[in-house]
Amino acid sequence: MDKDTTFKGVPVSPGISIGKVYLYVRNNFEIDSRDLLPDEIEKETADFQKSLELSINELSKIRNYSYEKIGEANSLIFDAQIEFLKDKFFMSQVIHRIQNEKRAAGYIFNEEISKLEDALSASKDSYLKDRFEDIKDIKNRVIRNLKREKLVSKIGENLIIVSHELTPADTILFSKRKVLGYATDKGGNTSHAAIISRALRIPAVVGMKDITRSLVTGDFVIIDGSSGIIIKDPSVETIDFYKKKIQKLLENEERLKEIIDLPCETTDKKEFELSANIDFDEEIDFIINTGHCGVGLYRTEHLFLEEGGFPSEEKQTEEYTHISDVIYPKSVTIRTYDIGGDKLLPRSEKEDNPFLGWRGIRICLDREDIFREQLRAIYRSSQNKNIRILFPMISSIAEIRKAKSIVKEILDDFDRNGTEYDKELKTGIMIEVPSASIMADALAKEVDFFSIGTNDLIQYLLAVDRGNSLISGLYQEFHPAVLRTLKNITEAAHSNNITVSVCGEMASNPLAAVIFTGLGVDELSVSPSRFPEIKQIIRKLNHKESSEFCNEILCLTTEEEIRSRLENYMEKYLRETGSL
Ligand code: PEP
Ligand code: MG
Repeated sequence: MDKDTTFKGVPVSPGISIGKVYLYVRNNFEIDSRDLLPDEIEKETADFQKSLELSINELSKIRNYSYEKIGEANSLIFDAQIEFLKDKFFMSQVIHRIQNEKRAAGYIFNEEISKLEDALSASKDSYLKDRFEDIKDIKNRVIRNLKREKLVSKIGENLIIVSHELTPADTILFSKRKVLGYATDKGGNTSHAAIISRALRIPAVVGMKDITRSLVTGDFVIIDGSSGIIIKDPSVETIDFYKKKIQKLLENEERLKEIIDLPCETTDKKEFELSANIDFDEEIDFIINTGHCGVGLYRTEHLFLEEGGFPSEEKQTEEYTHISDVIYPKSVTIRTYDIGGDKLLPRSEKEDNPFLGWRGIRICLDREDIFREQLRAIYRSSQNKNIRILFPMISSIAEIRKAKSIVKEILDDFDRNGTEYDKELKTGIMIEVPSASIMADALAKEVDFFSIGTNDLIQYLLAVDRGNSLISGLYQEFHPAVLRTLKNITEAAHSNNITVSVCGEMASNPLAAVIFTGLGVDELSVSPSRFPEIKQIIRKLNHKESSEFCNEILCLTTEEEIRSRLENYMEKYLRETGSL
């Protein structure tokens, strides 16, 4: 094994796969230059027109948001782009060439646009030079829309995707091709692509710096998502070693299934609610089949992704009713849109600091129309009385009061027109911004429950970008400031008689189990792939001893000391449960 070429990164999703690499280069659209058969011409023309329509729709949405956010003067570029796409003379020239030359639309469109690009880039006028980027954006948009389906279907099945970076959309789209693993140059443990690959139970290693320069499509590799390594051209002995490891993992999974129906309680009978985080619908089956648990965090961003915009109230009602039905009698905590940050944005302009920008509840309170539609859909789906609402990114009392006043208006309206809903439906907030953790005692008086989002809480507390591989070593779950903050939030919740759940990735870390059992949080909502393992560990721990241990480590002042005490304490439990 010493002779193998090994690359190291940040392990973000456990599991091992052996297979071939597909090097994915985003935005580098391969232009279709096929000659068309006579009976393909009509469809190709229609596809081109459709791609123009889709591009105009996308740009119109962006333009509308832009008008509201930065005003008309700053948004004129979008109008110009839309006008360009509607330019009958230019587009009919493209269509004319498709039909006469019998060549694929992408090829012709690219050629026509390139003429403009050349003219603009050669111009001495700086205004015209700047238009080059605008035209390029239009080109990429239309070609992307033209190749919408083809982009993914071109990629074979059972491959390990290697890419500079993956968006949540890429991660989900590729998963439909039975991907064996993901490896990226960029990214950290809590980037959304990492969370989604974990949820999909696909091994993933991120932050590999320049893996895209070391591997090419077709390379044969082993990806180990638990140790964060990729081995290129492994020797026969290495392959053998890893095959045995895979076998052991499968046996372990079988063993874990045996405890699935047992309560999630410590040896001294303190019970914890163990639920799962759901990022998209495919995961619901996993819960039904193996989890028998509630949903502690239902991220609704995937609806936005699948629809390519905000889904209608009807569509949302259908989705929320479905999840409420299949999870019943357990409960499902639906989080209102948390778009922005590293997630999806309903507009295109760049923010210098997106994680400190227009995100989560801020977007919802600015775009009340979207927020109201989502809230109405959630309440309309609440007939089973097993839904809770969770607001993300709350940073002040004013925000939660504003959100509640909007809820009240909606419900008054429902009462007036006889729409049925759960009158006891509980509303809670994510505690993931430091100001909210400091104000937890006051916030606790405004809501029914807290859910701690450690992914963001840690990044904002420690000023460490959750997705930046350059500083991933500074993203410390066991930093003393994090532990003290968790304790303060839990105490604030309990002294105000509300429950506190933890739904960030830290809840899925086996090493952290003693902290949460010790602090006595009420619920842990974990990645479905971690569900059995966390339950097994909690069932080995003793609540009273965990609390004493917690008090001890809360007195320590460095992450190194805390981590080493934790590792010593947990070693025996992790070994017994096969986590080590
Ligand atoms: C969190 O911040 O911990 C969290 C659960 O929210 P998200 O990861 O979706 O930002
Ligand atoms: Mg968050």
